Amino acid sequence: MSDQKQQTIVVDGLALAQDIRKQLAEEVGRYAAADKRVPCLAVVLVGDDPASASYIKGKQRACSRVGMDAIERRLPASASEQDVLLVVQELNLNDAVDGILVQLPLPKGISSNAIAAAIDPAKDVDALHPTTAGRLLLGTPTLAACTPLGVMEILDRYGIELEGANAVVIGRSNIVGKPVSLMLQSRNATVTMCHSKTRNLREICRQADVLVAAVGIPRLVKADWIKPGAAVIDVGVSNVDDKLVGDVDTEGAMGIARIVTPHRRGVGPMTITMLLRNTLTAYRARTGG
Ligand code: NAP
Repeated sequence: MSDQKQQTIVVDGLALAQDIRKQLAEEVGRYAAADKRVPCLAVVLVGDDPASASYIKGKQRACSRVGMDAIERRLPASASEQDVLLVVQELNLNDAVDGILVQLPLPKGISSNAIAAAIDPAKDVDALHPTTAGRLLLGTPTLAACTPLGVMEILDRYGIELEGANAVVIGRSNIVGKPVSLMLQSRNATVTMCHSKTRNLREICRQADVLVAAVGIPRLVKADWIKPGAAVIDVGVSNVDDKLVGDVDTEGAMGIARIVTPHRRGVGPMTITMLLRNTLTAYRARTGG
Protein backbone atom coordinates (compact mmCIF):
# COMPACT_ATOMS: atom_id res chain seq x y z
CA MET A 1 0.00 0.00 0.00
CA SER A 2 1.19 3.48 -0.84
CA ASP A 3 1.53 5.79 2.13
CA GLN A 4 1.28 8.81 -0.16
CA LYS A 5 -1.26 11.22 1.25
CA GLN A 6 -4.26 12.39 -0.72
CA GLN A 7 -4.20 16.06 -1.70
CA THR A 8 -7.39 17.28 -0.06
CA ILE A 9 -9.19 20.23 -1.59
CA VAL A 10 -11.02 22.43 0.90
CA VAL A 11 -14.20 23.55 -0.84
CA ASP A 12 -14.58 27.30 -1.15
CA GLY A 13 -18.35 27.52 -0.82
CA LEU A 14 -18.23 31.29 -0.59
CA ALA A 15 -16.40 31.73 -3.90
CA LEU A 16 -18.77 29.26 -5.54
CA ALA A 17 -21.78 31.07 -4.09
CA GLN A 18 -20.44 34.43 -5.31
CA ASP A 19 -19.89 33.03 -8.78
CA ILE A 20 -23.48 31.73 -8.98
CA ARG A 21 -24.87 34.98 -7.53
CA LYS A 22 -23.02 36.92 -10.21
CA GLN A 23 -24.74 34.83 -12.88
CA LEU A 24 -28.11 35.29 -11.15
CA ALA A 25 -27.55 39.06 -11.01
CA GLU A 26 -26.84 39.10 -14.74
CA GLU A 27 -30.03 37.17 -15.46
CA VAL A 28 -32.13 39.38 -13.22
CA GLY A 29 -30.47 42.43 -14.79
CA ARG A 30 -31.72 41.31 -18.20
CA TYR A 31 -35.33 41.38 -16.95
CA ALA A 32 -34.82 44.81 -15.40
CA ALA A 33 -33.21 46.10 -18.61
CA ALA A 34 -36.23 44.88 -20.56
CA ASP A 35 -38.47 46.86 -18.17
CA LYS A 36 -39.91 43.67 -16.75
CA ARG A 37 -40.81 43.07 -13.15
CA VAL A 38 -37.90 41.45 -11.29
CA PRO A 39 -38.28 38.28 -9.17
CA CYS A 40 -39.59 38.89 -5.66
CA LEU A 41 -39.13 36.84 -2.49
CA ALA A 42 -41.49 37.28 0.47
CA VAL A 43 -40.15 36.36 3.89
CA VAL A 44 -42.41 35.86 6.86
CA LEU A 45 -41.11 36.20 10.40
CA VAL A 46 -43.24 35.31 13.40
CA GLY A 47 -41.97 36.45 16.79
CA ASP A 48 -38.80 38.27 17.72
CA ASP A 49 -36.12 35.58 17.87
CA PRO A 50 -32.91 37.54 17.11
CA ALA A 51 -31.29 34.66 15.17
CA SER A 52 -34.35 34.33 12.92
CA ALA A 53 -34.49 38.11 12.44
CA SER A 54 -30.85 38.09 11.41
CA TYR A 55 -31.41 35.17 8.98
CA ILE A 56 -34.25 36.94 7.21
CA LYS A 57 -32.21 40.16 7.01
CA GLY A 58 -29.42 38.13 5.36
CA LYS A 59 -31.89 36.68 2.86
CA GLN A 60 -33.31 40.09 2.02
CA ARG A 61 -29.83 41.53 1.60
CA ALA A 62 -28.86 38.65 -0.68
CA CYS A 63 -31.95 39.34 -2.81
CA SER A 64 -31.18 43.01 -3.21
CA ARG A 65 -27.54 42.28 -4.12
CA VAL A 66 -28.66 40.26 -7.15
CA GLY A 67 -31.32 42.84 -8.05
CA MET A 68 -34.33 40.89 -6.80
CA ASP A 69 -37.10 42.42 -4.72
CA ALA A 70 -37.74 41.19 -1.20
CA ILE A 71 -40.73 41.96 0.96
CA GLU A 72 -41.19 41.16 4.60
CA ARG A 73 -44.22 40.29 6.71
CA ARG A 74 -43.69 40.37 10.47
CA LEU A 75 -46.11 38.99 13.00
CA PRO A 76 -45.83 39.16 16.78
CA ALA A 77 -44.94 36.09 18.84
CA SER A 78 -48.56 36.10 20.02
CA ALA A 79 -49.83 35.47 16.47
CA SER A 80 -52.07 32.43 16.00
CA GLU A 81 -51.72 29.77 13.31
CA GLN A 82 -54.73 31.36 11.61
CA ASP A 83 -52.96 34.75 11.54
CA VAL A 84 -49.96 33.19 9.81
CA LEU A 85 -52.17 31.28 7.38
CA LEU A 86 -53.90 34.54 6.41
CA VAL A 87 -50.53 36.16 5.62
CA VAL A 88 -49.51 33.14 3.55
CA GLN A 89 -52.83 33.31 1.72
CA GLU A 90 -52.32 37.00 0.96
CA LEU A 91 -48.84 36.26 -0.42
CA ASN A 92 -50.15 33.31 -2.47
CA LEU A 93 -52.61 35.67 -4.15
CA ASN A 94 -50.12 38.48 -4.62
CA ASP A 95 -49.07 38.31 -8.28
CA ALA A 96 -45.91 40.30 -7.63
CA VAL A 97 -44.57 37.63 -5.25
CA ASP A 98 -42.68 34.67 -6.73
CA GLY A 99 -41.30 32.95 -3.66
CA ILE A 100 -42.59 32.60 -0.10
CA LEU A 101 -40.37 31.63 2.80
CA VAL A 102 -41.70 31.31 6.35
CA GLN A 103 -38.75 31.46 8.71
CA LEU A 104 -38.52 28.48 11.07
CA PRO A 105 -38.80 27.72 13.90
CA LEU A 106 -42.31 29.02 14.49
CA PRO A 107 -43.55 29.84 17.98
CA LYS A 108 -45.15 27.03 19.98
CA GLY A 109 -48.73 26.30 18.96
CA ILE A 110 -48.15 27.00 15.26
CA SER A 111 -47.70 23.90 13.14
CA SER A 112 -44.90 24.35 10.62
CA ASN A 113 -46.44 21.50 8.58
CA ALA A 114 -49.77 23.31 8.39
CA ILE A 115 -48.06 26.53 7.30
CA ALA A 116 -45.89 24.74 4.72
CA ALA A 117 -48.96 22.99 3.31
CA ALA A 118 -50.68 26.38 2.84
CA ILE A 119 -47.95 27.81 0.60
CA ASP A 120 -48.71 27.77 -3.13
CA PRO A 121 -46.36 25.04 -4.48
CA ALA A 122 -45.51 27.38 -7.39
CA LYS A 123 -44.00 29.77 -4.82
CA ASP A 124 -42.56 27.13 -2.48
CA VAL A 125 -38.91 28.20 -2.64
CA ASP A 126 -38.10 26.48 0.67
CA ALA A 127 -39.57 23.25 -0.74
CA LEU A 128 -41.51 22.20 2.32
CA HIS A 129 -44.96 21.72 0.75
CA PRO A 130 -46.00 18.03 0.43
CA THR A 131 -46.52 18.51 -3.32
CA THR A 132 -42.96 19.81 -3.73
CA ALA A 133 -41.56 16.93 -1.66
CA GLY A 134 -43.69 14.45 -3.63
CA ARG A 135 -42.44 15.78 -6.96
CA LEU A 136 -38.85 15.27 -5.84
CA LEU A 137 -39.73 11.71 -4.84
CA LEU A 138 -41.35 11.06 -8.22
CA GLY A 139 -38.50 12.70 -10.10
CA THR A 140 -40.71 15.31 -11.80
CA PRO A 141 -39.46 18.89 -12.26
CA THR A 142 -39.80 20.87 -9.06
CA LEU A 143 -38.40 23.50 -6.79
CA ALA A 144 -36.22 21.70 -4.27
CA ALA A 145 -34.78 22.26 -0.81
CA CYS A 146 -31.98 24.83 -0.80
CA THR A 147 -29.31 23.13 1.31
CA PRO A 148 -29.49 19.83 -0.64
CA LEU A 149 -29.36 21.81 -3.90
CA GLY A 150 -26.24 23.53 -2.57
CA VAL A 151 -24.66 20.17 -1.72
CA MET A 152 -25.32 18.88 -5.25
CA GLU A 153 -23.94 22.06 -6.79
CA ILE A 154 -20.71 21.67 -4.78
CA LEU A 155 -20.32 18.03 -5.85
CA ASP A 156 -20.86 18.99 -9.50
CA ARG A 157 -18.61 22.02 -9.48
CA TYR A 158 -15.81 19.99 -7.91
CA GLY A 159 -16.23 17.26 -10.54
CA ILE A 160 -17.31 14.46 -8.22
CA GLU A 161 -18.51 11.44 -10.19
CA LEU A 162 -21.90 10.37 -8.83
CA GLU A 163 -22.97 7.62 -11.19
CA GLY A 164 -22.41 4.29 -9.46
CA ALA A 165 -20.77 6.00 -6.47
CA ASN A 166 -21.50 4.80 -2.95
CA ALA A 167 -23.13 7.77 -1.24
CA VAL A 168 -23.80 7.77 2.49
CA VAL A 169 -26.05 10.43 4.01
CA ILE A 170 -26.10 10.77 7.79
CA GLY A 171 -29.36 12.39 8.88
CA ARG A 172 -32.88 11.92 7.49
CA SER A 173 -34.60 15.25 8.06
CA ASN A 174 -37.14 16.59 5.59
CA ILE A 175 -35.01 19.64 4.86
CA VAL A 176 -31.62 18.01 4.35
CA GLY A 177 -31.14 14.25 4.73
CA LYS A 178 -34.15 12.96 2.79
CA PRO A 179 -34.02 15.39 -0.16
CA VAL A 180 -30.24 15.11 -0.62
CA SER A 181 -30.56 11.30 -0.58
CA LEU A 182 -33.20 11.47 -3.33
CA MET A 183 -31.10 13.90 -5.37
CA LEU A 184 -28.05 11.63 -5.12
CA GLN A 185 -30.14 8.62 -6.07
CA SER A 186 -31.59 10.45 -9.06
CA ARG A 187 -28.02 10.96 -10.24
CA ASN A 188 -27.46 7.19 -10.08
CA ALA A 189 -25.48 7.04 -6.85
CA THR A 190 -26.15 4.06 -4.59
CA VAL A 191 -27.41 5.76 -1.47
CA THR A 192 -27.37 4.59 2.15
CA MET A 193 -29.37 6.76 4.58
CA CYS A 194 -28.18 6.68 8.16
CA HIS A 195 -29.76 8.03 11.33
CA SER A 196 -29.61 7.82 15.10
CA LYS A 197 -30.50 4.10 15.15
CA THR A 198 -28.00 3.07 12.48
CA ARG A 199 -25.61 0.34 13.59
CA ASN A 200 -21.95 0.34 12.58
CA LEU A 201 -22.08 3.92 11.34
CA ARG A 202 -18.31 4.13 11.10
CA GLU A 203 -18.07 1.02 8.90
CA ILE A 204 -20.87 2.28 6.63
CA CYS A 205 -19.21 5.67 6.29
CA ARG A 206 -15.90 4.03 5.41
CA GLN A 207 -17.56 2.63 2.25
CA ALA A 208 -18.66 6.09 1.11
CA ASP A 209 -17.29 7.69 -2.04
CA VAL A 210 -19.56 10.60 -1.17
CA LEU A 211 -20.31 11.27 2.50
CA VAL A 212 -22.87 13.87 3.52
CA ALA A 213 -23.16 14.60 7.25
CA ALA A 214 -26.34 16.45 8.29
CA VAL A 215 -26.72 15.65 11.97
CA GLY A 216 -25.75 18.48 14.30
CA ILE A 217 -23.28 16.52 16.46
CA PRO A 218 -19.91 18.29 16.63
CA ARG A 219 -17.13 16.34 14.86
CA LEU A 220 -19.16 13.12 14.75
CA VAL A 221 -17.30 12.01 11.61
CA LYS A 222 -13.70 11.16 12.51
CA ALA A 223 -10.71 10.69 10.25
CA ASP A 224 -10.99 6.89 10.40
CA TRP A 225 -14.63 7.05 9.18
CA ILE A 226 -13.53 8.47 5.84
CA LYS A 227 -12.66 6.39 2.78
CA PRO A 228 -9.48 7.62 1.10
CA GLY A 229 -10.45 9.81 -1.86
CA ALA A 230 -14.01 10.44 -0.65
CA ALA A 231 -15.95 13.67 -1.14
CA VAL A 232 -16.98 14.79 2.33
CA ILE A 233 -19.77 17.33 2.70
CA ASP A 234 -20.33 18.73 6.17
CA VAL A 235 -23.79 20.27 6.52
CA GLY A 236 -23.92 20.23 10.32
CA VAL A 237 -23.60 23.38 12.37
CA SER A 238 -23.31 23.30 16.16
CA ASN A 239 -22.38 25.96 18.63
CA VAL A 240 -19.61 24.86 20.97
CA ASP A 241 -18.30 27.45 23.42
CA ASP A 242 -19.57 30.23 21.14
CA LYS A 243 -17.77 28.73 18.15
CA LEU A 244 -19.45 27.14 15.14
CA VAL A 245 -18.41 23.52 14.70
CA GLY A 246 -19.41 21.07 11.97
CA ASP A 247 -20.28 17.36 12.00
CA VAL A 248 -16.89 16.45 10.52
CA ASP A 249 -13.42 16.55 11.99
CA THR A 250 -12.21 18.63 9.04
CA GLU A 251 -8.58 18.61 10.06
CA GLY A 252 -8.69 14.84 10.42
CA ALA A 253 -10.12 14.61 6.91
CA MET A 254 -7.11 16.42 5.44
CA GLY A 255 -4.85 14.02 3.58
CA ILE A 256 -7.65 11.42 3.35
CA ALA A 257 -10.63 13.00 1.61
CA ARG A 258 -10.50 14.24 -1.98
CA ILE A 259 -12.63 17.24 -1.10
CA VAL A 260 -14.03 18.44 2.20
CA THR A 261 -16.32 21.37 2.97
CA PRO A 262 -15.20 23.56 5.88
CA HIS A 263 -17.86 24.34 8.50
CA ARG A 264 -17.56 28.03 7.64
CA ARG A 265 -17.63 29.12 3.99
CA GLY A 266 -18.68 25.61 3.02
CA VAL A 267 -22.31 24.61 2.54
CA GLY A 268 -23.75 27.66 4.34
CA PRO A 269 -23.24 30.32 1.63
CA MET A 270 -24.66 27.92 -0.95
CA THR A 271 -27.96 27.58 0.91
CA ILE A 272 -29.00 31.23 0.48
CA THR A 273 -27.68 31.18 -3.08
CA MET A 274 -29.97 28.27 -3.90
CA LEU A 275 -32.86 30.19 -2.34
CA LEU A 276 -32.15 33.01 -4.81
CA ARG A 277 -31.95 30.52 -7.66
CA ASN A 278 -35.25 28.93 -6.61
CA THR A 279 -36.86 32.38 -6.56
CA LEU A 280 -35.65 33.02 -10.12
CA THR A 281 -36.87 29.54 -11.18
CA ALA A 282 -40.30 30.20 -9.64
CA TYR A 283 -40.44 33.63 -11.34
CA ARG A 284 -39.66 32.10 -14.72
CA ALA A 285 -42.24 29.36 -14.30
CA ARG A 286 -44.88 31.88 -13.21
CA THR A 287 -44.18 34.49 -15.87
CA GLY A 288 -43.21 32.13 -18.67
CA GLY A 289 -40.05 34.21 -18.95
P1 NAP B 1 -32.46 17.36 12.37
O1 NAP B 1 -33.82 17.56 11.81
O2 NAP B 1 -32.22 17.52 13.82
O3 NAP B 1 -31.98 15.89 11.93
C1 NAP B 1 -30.80 15.35 12.42
C2 NAP B 1 -30.66 13.94 11.88
O4 NAP B 1 -29.48 13.40 12.45
C3 NAP B 1 -31.81 13.01 12.27
O5 NAP B 1 -32.22 12.26 11.14
C4 NAP B 1 -31.19 12.11 13.33
O6 NAP B 1 -31.67 10.78 13.33
C5 NAP B 1 -29.74 12.09 12.91
N1 NAP B 1 -28.89 11.76 14.04
C6 NAP B 1 -28.93 12.25 15.32
N2 NAP B 1 -27.98 11.68 16.07
C7 NAP B 1 -27.32 10.80 15.27
C8 NAP B 1 -26.24 9.92 15.48
N3 NAP B 1 -25.64 9.80 16.66
N4 NAP B 1 -25.83 9.19 14.44
C9 NAP B 1 -26.42 9.29 13.23
N5 NAP B 1 -27.44 10.11 12.97
C10 NAP B 1 -27.90 10.86 13.98
O7 NAP B 1 -31.41 18.29 11.66
P2 NAP B 1 -31.39 19.03 10.22
O8 NAP B 1 -32.37 20.11 10.20
O9 NAP B 1 -31.36 18.02 9.13
O10 NAP B 1 -29.94 19.69 10.31
C11 NAP B 1 -28.79 18.90 10.48
C12 NAP B 1 -27.60 19.80 10.77
O11 NAP B 1 -27.38 20.60 9.61
C13 NAP B 1 -27.81 20.79 11.91
O12 NAP B 1 -26.59 20.96 12.55
C14 NAP B 1 -28.24 22.06 11.21
O13 NAP B 1 -27.90 23.21 11.96
C15 NAP B 1 -27.42 21.98 9.96
N6 NAP B 1 -27.97 22.71 8.82
C16 NAP B 1 -27.12 23.53 8.15
C17 NAP B 1 -27.57 24.21 7.04
C18 NAP B 1 -26.62 25.06 6.28
O14 NAP B 1 -27.05 25.84 5.45
N7 NAP B 1 -25.32 24.94 6.52
C19 NAP B 1 -28.90 24.09 6.61
C20 NAP B 1 -29.74 23.21 7.31
C21 NAP B 1 -29.25 22.53 8.40
P3 NAP B 1 -33.20 10.38 13.70
O15 NAP B 1 -33.99 10.71 12.47
O16 NAP B 1 -33.12 8.95 14.01
O17 NAP B 1 -33.58 11.26 14.87
